[in-house]
Amino acid sequence: STMPKDFKHLPSHTCPVHYDLHLCLDFIEFTYSGCVQISIEINEDTDELVLNSVDLDVLSASFNNIPTQSITYGNKSEQTVRLKFPCKLMGTCTSLSQKGTGCLCLNYRGQLSDRLRGFYRSVQRCRGAATSETPCALTMLCPTEARRLLPCWDEPQLKATFQVAVEIPSTCPRLTALSNMPEEERRDLPSQSCSQSEPMPARELVRFAKTPQMSTYLLAIVIGRFDCIETVCQDGVALRVFSPIGRQSDGRFALEVARRSLQFYSELFGIPYPLPKLDLVAVPELAVGAMENWGLITYREAMLLVDENSSKFSMETVALVVGHEVAHQWFGNLVTMQWWTQLWLNEGFASWVEYLCIDHCYPEFDVWTRFIRNDFSKALELDCLDNSHPIEIDEIDEMFDAISYSKGAAVIRMLHAWLGEPAFRRGLQQYLRRHSYGNASTADLWLALSEASGQPVQQVMHDWIRRKGFPVISASLEPLPPPDSSQEASTRLQLRLRQSRFRSGQGPAVATASVGVQTELEKLDETEQLDGTAVSGERQAKMARISQNPVPDGNKFVSQHRSCSDLWRVPLLVQLSNEPEPRRLLLESAELAYPLPPSLSQLTDGHWLKLNWQCVGVFRVDYSDQMLDALVSALKRGKLGRRDRFNLQSDLFALVAYGKLVTIRVLEIVKAYRSEQYFTVWSDLLANLSSVQVLAEQLGLTAAWHAFLSYLCWPAFQRLGWDFKPGESHDAGLLRGLLLTYLGQAGHAEVVAEALARFDRHASGQCRLEPDIRAGVYATAARHGGAAAFDRLLALLDSPARGNGFISSEEELRILRALGILRILIRSSESWSCQSAPEFASRTPHR
Ligand SMILES: [Zn+2]
Repeated sequence: STMPKDFKHLPSHTCPVHYDLHLCLDFIEFTYSGCVQISIEINEDTDELVLNSVDLDVLSASFNNIPTQSITYGNKSEQTVRLKFPCKLMGTCTSLSQKGTGCLCLNYRGQLSDRLRGFYRSVQRCRGAATSETPCALTMLCPTEARRLLPCWDEPQLKATFQVAVEIPSTCPRLTALSNMPEEERRDLPSQSCSQSEPMPARELVRFAKTPQMSTYLLAIVIGRFDCIETVCQDGVALRVFSPIGRQSDGRFALEVARRSLQFYSELFGIPYPLPKLDLVAVPELAVGAMENWGLITYREAMLLVDENSSKFSMETVALVVGHEVAHQWFGNLVTMQWWTQLWLNEGFASWVEYLCIDHCYPEFDVWTRFIRNDFSKALELDCLDNSHPIEIDEIDEMFDAISYSKGAAVIRMLHAWLGEPAFRRGLQQYLRRHSYGNASTADLWLALSEASGQPVQQVMHDWIRRKGFPVISASLEPLPPPDSSQEASTRLQLRLRQSRFRSGQGPAVATASVGVQTELEKLDETEQLDGTAVSGERQAKMARISQNPVPDGNKFVSQHRSCSDLWRVPLLVQLSNEPEPRRLLLESAELAYPLPPSLSQLTDGHWLKLNWQCVGVFRVDYSDQMLDALVSALKRGKLGRRDRFNLQSDLFALVAYGKLVTIRVLEIVKAYRSEQYFTVWSDLLANLSSVQVLAEQLGLTAAWHAFLSYLCWPAFQRLGWDFKPGESHDAGLLRGLLLTYLGQAGHAEVVAEALARFDRHASGQCRLEPDIRAGVYATAARHGGAAAFDRLLALLDSPARGNGFISSEEELRILRALGILRILIRSSESWSCQSAPEFASRTPHR
């Protein structure tokens, strides 16, 4: 979504109190007529009212039964309708001291567009009947599209109550009609109720209960044909999941996630769910993954429904997206940001708390490690670029990006860890209680959190929210100076920390990386007895060119950019190898010396020290050689937790890009990850290695690179084996699929042979592949299975449709990705002619 750049506030002399909205839908012409009665307060006498309105045809308007003199529309960017009256309006009001209240009544017409915003139309297909399509109508009003549904004061801080009624065709079976609140009344109407000219088909009226005070962008209507499953939660909230006809049971998982989430958030926020019901609807088309409309959350089908072909990864995604949108029912909907510039708070908070919730409800998913991979890494990757932007900015056109969502979430996670759970929870509850049914700013949240914790939250967060970038902290150990002027050398150590802004490296860093790859891979060729390739003349020339570039002095990067404005107040959690709990400290200046306890007087005897415990801090760490050696040794001995293992390799690869470390050192350390067992650590490590892969390919070292990948991944895959084992962890299933993909890519002979055999049995219908390994097997078959694999993949893509079945979007994407690999191979070899190619080219994924 994008905001108009020159977005202006409406005149502040009027304020809506209640909207009574009546819509009459025509599913043949895809139009609707609306009648809205708005109770408003007038603070300043005027003869003119200005509302937001886009693409609506206002037929008539009156205020307290006085008709307008004129109705004019603002220009495209204003998105307003201006109602001019023949007299000042205050005199017509029942006066309440300085304010006047009255009723504005508008009759208008609108189109059900096909553009996925405002009130729009879509088409539902029913499983088992490929030709049966029914139209449906639904809303997407975020951020500023409510003005396409009705003329209104379309600003988040102008909250009002709403009562919605819709007139829809009376069909058999009946259409489902949903809005934010439960249905209050449903009855058949005499025909010709909203059109005088022609007799209309039979119609019915559905009226919904009045909402509490809420923002316009959260209003929602969904009309269509759905199946439904439901449950009633402990506190009496009616919970339902709506899915396309025939896919009722695919909503079962989401229903359970939503039930657990509602209970979790009621306790976390200390406020019961504010509405009597919550509906989750899988709609055929939505501009975003999901939309948190109050009491009526809409989802793309793939974000809500889970079937027997769904991988564990997509179940995690569904759980997180459900957890995210349910969190908004309080944080965002009950308490709303003051203005769109603070959207990051809404999204950053929900993007963090969804993990807190799903980690609580499904601990086996280990979603926090996934958070580090998805949000922490993504935020840091973007935010080290010079054209990044602060989380909170006054321009609204940049608001809906990964900085708002992911860095916002990562910064809130850091704050939560630093303040501790009890203080954070108390502050959060205070904030939500104080601003319920109203609006609040980031400053209001910091205030509540600092009251609850006694910490300077406002000052600490200011650096993180209002400034772009993040620090790199270099850490080293040195002797602790003696307490007095005595000459005796101390036997104790202190930790020296220095911070500066982390910036992505330029050209020299890439050259450094290249030199490292060359050396490391050649060394590997020798030591591991792998099939290395002869150094070609071209490769030698390339190497010579790269070697001419000097390796940069890492320290130059640090000193060059140091300035006062590049300092953060950094909350730090430092883990010492001999203490169970991390130590909390605040790095408030460019440099800090922290005395270590006598028990840690040296890093021998297996002692080590890790900054950024569990990877909760938003920064990179550059350890001294001595500290890094101790950490790697701890890693090899299995002493580091999985998020710390993740963090270590992630920082090391970032430091290579930064020009502080050579790739050879990182590749050496990476070998210690052969015994790694966690999917997310592997997934990030392999993604990081892909930058080395690109270099290896350019240098003509592909074969050596494939040997390195096999060396790294094979032991872990061997441990897991090909088949699902009863009682194995959630993580094992994910990891099997990932390692299989990479081993297939590396051309590991045993893996390729088995994958092709299994693909054969799967494609011929003898033995279905487990969903978690399907992507890896398809990709391997595409790489190594030749023309036969291509035809069989295409057949898999089309067979469900021929059998009147449905292919899930996840399965479709798996096949298309594999076909994509094939197409790349075809292009590069050009020796392959394929008759099915045009058909393939016309195929696009749903979204
Ligand atoms: Zn959100």
